[in-house]
Amino acid sequence: MIIIMKPNASQEAISQVTKLVESKGLQVHLSKGDEVTIVGVVGDKSKLRGINMEISEGVEKVVQVTESYKLVNKKFHPEDSSIPVKHTSIGPGTLTVMAGPCAIENHDQLLQCAQEVKKAGATFLRGGAFKPRTSPYSFQGLEEEGLRYMEEAGRATGLATICEVTSLRALSMAVNYVDMLQIGARNMQNFELLKEVGRSGLPVMLKRGLAATVDEWLNAAEYIISEGNPHIVLCERGIRTYETATRNTLDLSAVPVIRAKSHLPIIVDPSHATGVRALVEHPSQAAVAVGADGLMIEVHPCPSCALSDGPQSLTFSQFAQLMTELKPYAQLENRRL
Ligand code: PEP
Ligand code: MN
Repeated sequence: MIIIMKPNASQEAISQVTKLVESKGLQVHLSKGDEVTIVGVVGDKSKLRGINMEISEGVEKVVQVTESYKLVNKKFHPEDSSIPVKHTSIGPGTLTVMAGPCAIENHDQLLQCAQEVKKAGATFLRGGAFKPRTSPYSFQGLEEEGLRYMEEAGRATGLATICEVTSLRALSMAVNYVDMLQIGARNMQNFELLKEVGRSGLPVMLKRGLAATVDEWLNAAEYIISEGNPHIVLCERGIRTYETATRNTLDLSAVPVIRAKSHLPIIVDPSHATGVRALVEHPSQAAVAVGADGLMIEVHPCPSCALSDGPQSLTFSQFAQLMTELKPYAQLENRRL
């Protein structure tokens, strides 16, 4: 339930409403806009039965929130969120590009990627130290050694860093080295992991599950935010359908759907969505045009030698060209690239 206060509601009226709600054992989340204050109520709303909030001083109206996700819901927080990470932010007015290899393979590979993607205009370095591979015999990642390279690359270039965590053990290591955590598609509904990243204090990028609905995805984000961490960015990375022409099916309509339902930023990963290097360019442009707050792109110094996801990885020059081509799209959307 949300209680929308009148534009001229006094501070006194707002705190009276807040106190009344809290006195019934419910949680309050205040969203103060330029004009209107919204009092979001979380918890068992039957505890407010018999109380007509609409007649309280300063209250404009009461709206029932039927969705099970509350704190990530746009109704609770009508203004789009901007998520601070290192000395940058993800959200309104910006187009964030995260780029780097699928997997951190060695020191020089990551450092070289960092320097090249920075030169081309990316602000984040991505790279997996814990790889959730389909086969247990495929390269599983360098783990802590990879995280150390990530920290060094971030320090050397000034790029913010993001790494996927696949377990509580990976999380306990990653928090010491990276600026942002990534929850991958395969772990979108690993609720224990979601709760723990919610308590980690680091910003989180939450990828859409392999076959997750938008509602399931937003509920997964609610697990993180309900542990006290509001710094969440969503990432559409394609979903499993009957189509086999691409690795996954990029659901670009999820971008405007999410923007209508949630205040959280959303970025698009056309690399995992298409699985094909030649198909990364146009979906990237389309993602910006449809309102995405950023992109995640896989880049490798030698895609054909990559230990993971070579076929979808761009070369450095292809990435630099993509960045140049994105500029007019960013401009059209009033986003700083
Ligand atoms: C990745 O980003 O390297 C990755 C494994 O992505 P996803 O979880 O989307 O498959
Ligand atoms: Mn990958």
